[in-house]
Amino acid sequence: MDILLNPYDEGSILSYEELEAISTSQRWSPPASGERIEEGVATKLEAEWKLLAPDRSETIAEDSLQVDDVTHGDIDEKVVPDTEGRKRLVRHVSYERSQKNRREAIKLHGTSCAACGFDFDDTYGKDYADSYIQIHHIKPLSEYEGEVDPETDLVPLCANCHGMAHKRRDTVTPIKELRALIEEAAG
Ligand SMILES: [Zn+2]
Ligand SMILES: [Zn+2]
Repeated sequence: MDILLNPYDEGSILSYEELEAISTSQRWSPPASGERIEEGVATKLEAEWKLLAPDRSETIAEDSLQVDDVTHGDIDEKVVPDTEGRKRLVRHVSYERSQKNRREAIKLHGTSCAACGFDFDDTYGKDYADSYIQIHHIKPLSEYEGEVDPETDLVPLCANCHGMAHKRRDTVTPIKELRALIEEAAG
C-alpha cells in the first residue's frame, strides 16, 4: 500500500469515529506507510466508502458496468484522478485485492463465458484476445460479510453476458437465469 491514510484530513470521506466503527483492531492513526489493512476490514471499508461517498456512487451508478469494472479491478484505479487521500487508499486496496481475486478466478474457472460459453481467444485469435475475459461478482459487493471467494463468488463472463447480468439496476441477475434466457430466446 503506497498511499497514506489520514483520518484528520479536511474533506475526509470517513471520520475517525466511522473508521473505528468499522474496525477497532485496525490501527487507523497515526497513518504509516506500508501498513496493511486486513481483508475483512478492507471489504467493510470499501462498502462503507460506497455508502458515504454519494457523489462518487451516483456517478458510478449511472453506469453499472463501470461499477463492475471498478470492483472487479478491470480499470486501473491508480490512473483515475482523485484529489482525496482516503478515496485513493480505499480504491488502491480494492484494486490490489481484486487483481489477486481476478487471477485466482481465471485459474479456477478459465476464460470462457460462464453464461454463453463465448471464448474471446476462439473468435479474435489468441494473439490479439490474449485470454481476455471479464470477471463478475455473483452478488453485489455490499452484501459480502467477509472475503470474496474466487471459487464461489466470481465467474468469467463475456462483455455481452456481463452487460445482461447488470441489466436490472437494483439486482444482479443470476448466471442460471442468464443461461435459461439464452436457451429460451434461441427456441
Ligand atoms: Zn457470454
Ligand atoms: Zn459484474
